[in-house]
Amino acid sequence: MPQIFGSPGRYVQAAGLIDDAAGYVGKLGVRRAAILCTARSQRNEARRLVDGLHAAGIATVIATFGGECSRQEVEGQTAWLKSRPAVDALIALGGGKTLDAGKSIAHRLGVPVVVMPTLASNDAPCTALSVLYTPAGATESYEVFDQSPALVLVDTDIIAQAPARFLVAGIGDAMSTWYEARACQQNPAGISLFGVRPTLAGAALAEMCARTLFKYGVEAVAAVEARKVNTALEHIVDANTLLSGLGAESGGVAAAHAVAQAFTLLEAVDRNYLHGEMVAFGVLVQLMLESDVAEADKVGRLFAQVGLPVTLGQIGVARDDAGAVDTVVGATVAFPFIGNMPFAVTAEGVRQSLQDADRLGQRIVAELGDRPYRRLHD
Ligand SMILES: [Zn+2]
Repeated sequence: MPQIFGSPGRYVQAAGLIDDAAGYVGKLGVRRAAILCTARSQRNEARRLVDGLHAAGIATVIATFGGECSRQEVEGQTAWLKSRPAVDALIALGGGKTLDAGKSIAHRLGVPVVVMPTLASNDAPCTALSVLYTPAGATESYEVFDQSPALVLVDTDIIAQAPARFLVAGIGDAMSTWYEARACQQNPAGISLFGVRPTLAGAALAEMCARTLFKYGVEAVAAVEARKVNTALEHIVDANTLLSGLGAESGGVAAAHAVAQAFTLLEAVDRNYLHGEMVAFGVLVQLMLESDVAEADKVGRLFAQVGLPVTLGQIGVARDDAGAVDTVVGATVAFPFIGNMPFAVTAEGVRQSLQDADRLGQRIVAELGDRPYRRLHD
């Protein structure tokens, strides 16, 4: 089986980058660009982007993102853009769903995609895949593209202005990367998101990602709470966006994402928690499955300090809710990439590990205190 490593053509990260974006887009030879963003963004950062592009002689057409990365949204935007004068790139500006929709639309238009994340909460910016949802928001399927994004532009000033909860969720998603890549390496049949053997490069990026989170995570969260960009925040944005995205794509996912995916089936969890928060608890469950209690304790302590969930209660699941636990257990063992774990994962093993992770989390909370749990309006 081959090994594949993918990456964006160019990744640029800087405070205030949005005002210099046109220079980087222009180097791709773009004369006319579509911009996918929300209506809210059009009153804020998208306006700065458009002003810069026009000043550089790049024409624009704005497609207003409807909020859900569904097949209907993607097909509708593609048809509308095809009815307009042709563009030679699509710029996706916004959160994870806007970026995923932008990658899918650009693929259908046959043009390169430029990705400009406004949050550092997930792996969407650097990967060559999109998660598609039903119009109601349930995960439907995912698409893998032959081309990675041509250009990723990350303005850390914009990320520092977003609620801290998004950066924190990104730490949860990023922390899974190393443990999942490690599992894929240990399993001779493990596969990456490209469906082939993972590369050593993917695992190396994933390991650097975890090291960075342990070293700078707490300081970066304090920075974003103060709406300031400092070195710690720059490192955590790099870890959450570049190291985590490439590490997951070329290193592979496993039990942590299986648990996170299972949590989305519980409506109360799906509605109230972010992907990275669900992944965070999934990391603790995976480490318990692997009987790596020392590492679970180390990870759980960082999570408790930055405000990520370390107990079932903190992710909105009552520990005596047998129905909810059954749903999570069933969906975890049915997840396509659960086979990346280097041993057979049974329903009983997952059930036990959910309880073990919850008990560990309770011990950590008793010791470190229960940091007021973040909600979107914080
Ligand atoms: Zn993820």
